[in-house]
Amino acid sequence: HDAQARHLPFVIYNAHLSKKARERLLLETELHQIPLHPEQLTVYFQPQVDARTHRLIGLEALVRWRHPRLGLILPGRFVPIAESAGLMPDLGREIIRITCRQIQDWQEAGLTVPPVAVNISADEFASPGLVERVEHALLEFDIAPQTLELELTESASMQNPEATIAIMNRLCDLGVRLSIDDFGTGYSNLSYLKRFPVSRLKLDQAFVRDILTDNHDLAISQAIIAMAHQLRLEVVAEGVENVAQLKLLSQARCDFIQGYLFSTPQPGEVCRRWLREGMVSPTTPVLPD
Ligand code: C2E
Ligand code: MG
Ligand code: MG
Ligand code: MG
Repeated sequence: HDAQARHLPFVIYNAHLSKKARERLLLETELHQIPLHPEQLTVYFQPQVDARTHRLIGLEALVRWRHPRLGLILPGRFVPIAESAGLMPDLGREIIRITCRQIQDWQEAGLTVPPVAVNISADEFASPGLVERVEHALLEFDIAPQTLELELTESASMQNPEATIAIMNRLCDLGVRLSIDDFGTGYSNLSYLKRFPVSRLKLDQAFVRDILTDNHDLAISQAIIAMAHQLRLEVVAEGVENVAQLKLLSQARCDFIQGYLFSTPQPGEVCRRWLREGMVSPTTPVLPD
C-alpha cells in the first residue's frame, strides 16, 4: 500500500505529461502542414494610441491559428512549438504577407494606415533571407516601407547583438521601422541599445500590471521611459487595462499606450472604424482628476 502511494504522484505526473506531450506532437505535426493551408493562419490587430489624445498611432499584428477542429488558437499555445520546431521563418513569411495584404486592402479602401508592427521570433530574425522576404512582401503588396514595423524582443535582440545590429541596419535601410518588444525583462546590455537603429521600446507588460501597487514596478517604468527619451526613443506601454494605469504612465511621459483599456486584438474588418476615425476611445471614460 505504501509503495503504491509513493508511486501515485509519479503516475499522475507522467499521465499529465504525456497528454501535454501528445498535444504538442499533434500541433507540431499540423504546424508543418500550414504552408499547405496558409488560410488557417489569421492576424488580429490591436491599436496603439497616443497616451494623451488617444489618436491611433499604430497597430500590432498578432497571429492566430484557425484550427479546423480546435477553433481559434492563441500564439502562446503554438508559437513556442513552431519556434522549437524551426518553423517560424516559414510561418513568419506568411504572417508578414497576410499583414501586408491587409494593409493593402485598407489603403485601397481609402484608409490612412499608421505603422503596423509584426512580431519576429529570434530564429526568424537570424534566418537567412529575412530582409529579402520583407522586401518582397512590400513590393508584392505595394506597401510603403514606413508602414511596416518589426518587433524583436529584448532577449532575442541580445542573443547575438552584433548580428542583430547588422540585420537591423539592413532592415532600416529598406525603410521599415524597428522596435524592441518586452523591454525591461530581457537582461539588456544597455551599451548595445544605443547602437540598435530602433525607434521604439515596448515596456513589458510585467511592469504595467502592478504599476499601481508596486513602487518598484513604477520606479522601473519611470526609469525606462526617461532613459528611452534620452536615447531619442519612443515608449509604448503594453498591457494597459485601466484608467489609473493610463494616468500614471501618462504622468511618467510614456508616449503611447496599448492594452485592453482601448481594445483587445480584433480582426481586420473591426479596425476600419479606428482607421476611419484616426482614434480609439477607451472602454472606460477617462475623467479629469
Ligand atoms: P507580445 O508581442 O508582447 O504581444 C502582446 C500580447 O499581450 C498579445 O497576446 C496581446 O493580446 C496581449 N495583450 C495586449 N493588451 C493586453 C492587456 O491589456 N492585458 C493583457 N493581459 N494582455 C494584453 P497574444 O496575441 O496572445 O500574443 C502573445 C505573444 O505571442 C506575443 O506577445 C508575441 O510574443 C507572440 N506572437 C504573437 N503574434 C506573433 C507573430 O505573428 N509572430 C511571432 N513570432 N510571435 C507572435
Ligand atoms: Mg509584440
Ligand atoms: Mg510585448
Ligand atoms: Mg510577450
